[in-house]
Amino acid sequence: MSTDLESEPAQEHSEGRIPFDAICTGCQQIDVRWARFEEVGLEASVDLEAIEPAACTSFKHVCYECGSATWWNPVRVLTGVIRSGQEEA
Ligand SMILES: [Zn+2]
Repeated sequence: MSTDLESEPAQEHSEGRIPFDAICTGCQQIDVRWARFEEVGLEASVDLEAIEPAACTSFKHVCYECGSATWWNPVRVLTGVIRSGQEEA
């Protein structure tokens, strides 16, 4: 499985990242954050439709409210964002 990285086909996902609605553990705001699969404990081959946010691990990302990098908990997977052309939030 791990050797797949070398012969990866055309990337379907934006640089191997997933858009989440996520909640900042510092200030409790919910905002869109992109996390890498490995950051939330997922295999890159996982079906995006099958991801359960509650089963994902927290990931570290910058929070502008908190003014530093904080931990975010995935709340919802934004599969619609992926389908509509990977727009930035
Ligand atoms: Zn925050």
